[in-house]
Amino acid sequence: MPDTALPLTILAPQQFASDNYAGICPEAWNAMHEANAGSVPAYGDDPWTQRAADALRDLFEHEAEVFFAFNGTAANSMALASLCQSYHSVICSATAHVETDECGAPEFFSNGSKLLVAASTDGKLTPDAIRAMATSRSDIHFPKPRAVTITQPTETGLVYTIDEVKAIAAVCLELGLRLHMDGARFANACAALNCAPADITWKAGVDVLCFGGTKNGMGVGEAILFFDRGLAQDFDYRCKQAGQLASKMRFLAAPWLGMIKDGAWLRNGHHANACARRLADKISGLPEIEPIFAVQANAVFLKAPESVLDALRAKGWRFYTFIGGGARLMFAWDADPARVDQLAADIKNASESK
Ligand SMILES: *Cc1c(COP(=O)(O)O)cnc(C)c1O
Repeated sequence: MPDTALPLTILAPQQFASDNYAGICPEAWNAMHEANAGSVPAYGDDPWTQRAADALRDLFEHEAEVFFAFNGTAANSMALASLCQSYHSVICSATAHVETDECGAPEFFSNGSKLLVAASTDGKLTPDAIRAMATSRSDIHFPKPRAVTITQPTETGLVYTIDEVKAIAAVCLELGLRLHMDGARFANACAALNCAPADITWKAGVDVLCFGGTKNGMGVGEAILFFDRGLAQDFDYRCKQAGQLASKMRFLAAPWLGMIKDGAWLRNGHHANACARRLADKISGLPEIEPIFAVQANAVFLKAPESVLDALRAKGWRFYTFIGGGARLMFAWDADPARVDQLAADIKNASESK
């Protein structure tokens, strides 16, 4: 038998190419471990799922309908599909994950509801852009606008303030549009704004939230919260049909309990945001290097000369350049400040020896 054990060198130095590079945080891991005791009913009919849904309702101070899905693409797609008929459309920003990174899943799961990409310079939607798109046509040849989706924080690392969400919700209300929030990094937004989850969701006019657990420190799983409970009608069937009903649901649900119980979800958000801030502060003032977008959550988009980016790559740093052309650096619950400092030092060196 060959030795199939992976060499320990697989534990390479920490990278910040994606917040999905991180492992599972202890609170989520321990909750899985606890839930592993004994046998309980399947398909969500178990105490863990009940308790996790209740914990989310407590956290949001709302009797929301709560569902659990495996990932964000499914959560977003099913949520949007529940807001739309096939002839409807969903207004989103040009950088929206639903538009650029879900392989057409929102259209697929909604049987054809079209995404309408509204003008946006920095990834944020504005009430004006929504209004312009929603009122551009009203004839029968155009897919009828029915929903708006905003990402909080945005794919560009910007945070909608409470007032910005409210202003978008007001336009939605006026134009008969439902408001969906892609909260893949929702915890980072709450940490950045220092606000309660309710303040940027139902209290601000959001109808349905996809709350990301994975990027927050869980191994897998997103929660879908319907604040307008009527919109959740038959959503359980939609989950099952989409292959998103976990048979051993307790393992998808229990980590939420672990995350919420003593505030790990928010701690993780604060830590990740602080690491992004740390990097931004350490490299501020370097010539020809600056953040492309304001650093408000857990992302730093680095605008730098190509020679600097190449030097960083040569040093072994990994990063994506698909948004804005600069290096995207994402920080998660496990980001090691010493490693952040190392990255800052390497950026400084690369900039000086350019
Ligand atoms: C990561 C992410 C998702 C979810 O992606 P999955 O890979 O499907 O889990 C959704 N929206 C945004 C903005 C994301 O960054």
